[in-house]
Amino acid sequence: MGYDVNQIRRDFPILERQVGDKSLVYLDNAATSQKPRAVLDAIERYYTHSNANIHRGVHRLSVEATQAYEGARQKLASFVGADSAEEVVFVRGTTEGINLVAQAYVRPRVGPGDEILISHLEHHSNIVPWQMVARQTGARLRVARINERGEIDLEHFRELLSESTRFVALAHVSNALGTINPVADMIQWAHEVGAPVLLDGAQAAPHLELDVSRLDCDFYTVSGHKMYGPTGIGILYGKRARLEEMDPWEGGGEMIRSVTFEETTYNEVPHKFEAGTPNIAGAIGLGAAADYLRSLDWAAVTAHEDELVEVATQRLLELPGVRIIGTAAQKTGVVAFTLNGVHPHDVGTIVDQEGVAVRTGHHCAQPVIDHFGLSATTRASFGLYNTLAEIDRLIAALRQVRKIFEL
Ligand code: PMP
Repeated sequence: MGYDVNQIRRDFPILERQVGDKSLVYLDNAATSQKPRAVLDAIERYYTHSNANIHRGVHRLSVEATQAYEGARQKLASFVGADSAEEVVFVRGTTEGINLVAQAYVRPRVGPGDEILISHLEHHSNIVPWQMVARQTGARLRVARINERGEIDLEHFRELLSESTRFVALAHVSNALGTINPVADMIQWAHEVGAPVLLDGAQAAPHLELDVSRLDCDFYTVSGHKMYGPTGIGILYGKRARLEEMDPWEGGGEMIRSVTFEETTYNEVPHKFEAGTPNIAGAIGLGAAADYLRSLDWAAVTAHEDELVEVATQRLLELPGVRIIGTAAQKTGVVAFTLNGVHPHDVGTIVDQEGVAVRTGHHCAQPVIDHFGLSATTRASFGLYNTLAEIDRLIAALRQVRKIFEL
């Protein structure tokens, strides 16, 4: 069966809007994705019908809100392939998930002589929290190199793994280049030296079928807004044993079992990590996004997105002066490039006038961009609703850029 992208597009109301007198071509999905009606409806239904604070309430609305919130946790557990809903902690997004693990799991367990291993491919949110822990504890941050295609140098990664490695944190998919890392092998190698592994799944969740149990990672974190869900919500998956041994990070309501001035006992996982009133509507919206994605034929989605990346790459290379940044053998979702003689910021501004939304800059991954001797790129990033006709629009807009710059 073919993939009916026009059918999919009808699920996303924003795709009908105009930008000036042009129809919108949205190619900034790696920054944030658009939301299907199912997500918008779930949020509206919650606020118009069941809004109440969750847990412990005995009245009808509170029971409904609690069921919807905990139901969403179950949906996310199934979405990532967790063994149980107790392994899913609601957080604000990937950034908060990584910081939670850095401060609550890693910080108390490392000191001078210990090492934390990341790669050169990481988003700033998977670099800075580890620099902070290194500064706080005296542990050393090690960085595995990348090659000229934008793939992690696996020899170097293995060389850096040792008895001193206490923790490994890696992107599943790079946001700046689209590289899919061979994480299953990397997790196994890290485990051989006894190091737990966190995967930053922000860019993987919208493109790959996830299975944290099969991957055997210790932690996995995603942002709702990149997987067609709302902003301000995401999840941290943690193996139950890891979450059990991890102390809470924020204190407050919801995360306790009992409080006296002499002694406070904590709630069970995952509630001990969810202090205060959570983003209830966000969690429900994210649950709807997970349901939406799970209702699709995933092999067809992947084939469609792979075709978009392949065709965009070919078409871009037909334009004189284009250099593709990031040519990994395994890629998804992203085509980053430079156009000789034009600053990416100018490219982005001019194509916007043609209704085409792309992102320009260092994409919160400055070391990656430095690696290619650049300060910025233009990035077209694709979602399941993008079409080959939209690639035509991007190429036409870039021809316009070349004309304006008299290239
Ligand atoms: N990691 C990667 C690979 C990302 O692409 C992003 C978002 N650009 C993040 C982490 C941070 O996600 P958030 O801003 O949603 O916390």
